[in-house]
Amino acid sequence: MEKTSDHDLPLRIELVPKTCWNFTLRKLMPRSRWNKVRQKVFERAGHTCEICGAKDKLNCHEIWEYDGTKHIQKMAGFQAVCDLCHHVKHFGMAQVLADRGYADLIDTLIEHFKAVNGVEDREFDSHVKKAFRVWKQRSQHEWETDLGRFDSLIQSKAFRRAEVPTNN
Ligand SMILES: [Zn+2]
Repeated sequence: MEKTSDHDLPLRIELVPKTCWNFTLRKLMPRSRWNKVRQKVFERAGHTCEICGAKDKLNCHEIWEYDGTKHIQKMAGFQAVCDLCHHVKHFGMAQVLADRGYADLIDTLIEHFKAVNGVEDREFDSHVKKAFRVWKQRSQHEWETDLGRFDSLIQSKAFRRAEVPTNN
């Protein structure tokens, strides 16, 4: 039995189903507005990676939840994450980058995953296998989108800087 269930890990691989690749919230708003959203998320996080505490190279990560019964992807919030944590979350993309010449990237990410989560190779291996199994299964479906409270972000009239909703 594993000592840690996947859900307890602070840093997890979250692969976006292939059928959702063209859909991101940031693409639905003008660049200037996205910049305000990011800024708000970074301020809320104290300009610190919300997973590992790193202070530099922050990304604004979109958190999506997948309802595997109804096939609905639901927007659940934003998270300030450093480059390394972001690459781990999008591990499939990192593998593409690795194939394009960033050969050391994968090793760096695996080390980061292990250090942040306090686990060993064995836990990483099982986590990555599971993530790809779920991804493959989810990629067989088309997904409807539910923006929930975050819908206001793409309505230009409703958007004000003060109103970036907090996470669920
Ligand atoms: Zn981090």
